[in-house]
Amino acid sequence: DRIISANLMMDEQAAELSLRPRYLAEYIGQNQVKENLKIYIEAAKMRSEALDHVLLYGPPGLGKTTLANIIANELGVNLRITSGPAIERPGDLAALLTNLQEGDVLFIDEIHRLHRTVEEVMYPAMEDFALDIMIGKGPSARSVRLDLPPFTLIGATTRAGLLSAPLRDRFGVVSRLEFYTMDELSYIVARNADLLGIEILGDAADGIALRSRGTPRIANRLLKRVRDFAQVRGDGIITPEIAAEALKMLQVDPRGLDNIDHKMLHSMITGFRGGPVGLDTIAATIGEESQTIEDVYEPYLLQIGFLQRTPRGRVVTPAGYLHLGIPLPPQPN
Ligand code: ADP
Repeated sequence: DRIISANLMMDEQAAELSLRPRYLAEYIGQNQVKENLKIYIEAAKMRSEALDHVLLYGPPGLGKTTLANIIANELGVNLRITSGPAIERPGDLAALLTNLQEGDVLFIDEIHRLHRTVEEVMYPAMEDFALDIMIGKGPSARSVRLDLPPFTLIGATTRAGLLSAPLRDRFGVVSRLEFYTMDELSYIVARNADLLGIEILGDAADGIALRSRGTPRIANRLLKRVRDFAQVRGDGIITPEIAAEALKMLQVDPRGLDNIDHKMLHSMITGFRGGPVGLDTIAATIGEESQTIEDVYEPYLLQIGFLQRTPRGRVVTPAGYLHLGIPLPPQPN
């Protein structure tokens, strides 16, 4: 039950539903993405056409699924949700696509994990709204083309570079979600406290926002843990003191780093003089998956300037040393 984990926790799916903004106007931050989408959505509605296919990418918990829901809401169409690995065979995709109504949105999370055979069926579906189905086997096999209702595919992935070029090229709109600012997160925490009926005082919301790694999902998790703490140790009201105490117990440091971030930076410093170190080496040293480090941990460390990517590997920056309270090694000159 790590705070930073990319996986949804058991109690989280229901809670995420209740906290999820439903319209663009309620969606905090990501202003550039929002502005663009607003125009594309309006234009599609004016022309009574399906919205162009949209690819959303960025670290987990930044609001890709939420945005897909909002896009469908704003368009006034149905939303079907699935994920790349869940579509095992071309037939599964055909079943999904033929059940769509005109203009509907199909959301595929982790779209970089689509099976290759499924991906190939996706190309004509995205481009021509058509399915090419093989009937029969051997020399008598032939392909039949089936028309689909125009639909919008929204794909989500952590990094756009994970997609094959032909798939990526078929998205008309490609948007990268950014980490949220402190003010945005603080606003989200205050709003969600309100929605959950929690009283939160003074700068307690800022304290939570500061430790949320620029990520609304983490802000929501911290808020709920702090609420538990406030109920058991206090009278349910989140004061700045209660928040500070609870956050200390959750083992996230004042910049939102947890023990894995610490382990990673420490092992880079003690084992490799701060780098450059290759990602796989770091992963092996601390016993985590490279992909988890690259998708979940590293982006925030890069964002706050504790880590740098160089052609020869990752390097801990002076700011990273400073944060850990470790003196910089003498520089060769
Ligand atoms: P992703 O699909 O990118 O992993 P989600 O869309 O599931 O992220 O978002 C995680 C949670 O964060 C949601 O339940 C939602 O409550 C919250 N959230 C995400 N983006 C925003 C936002 N812009 N404003 C308010 N809350 C947000």
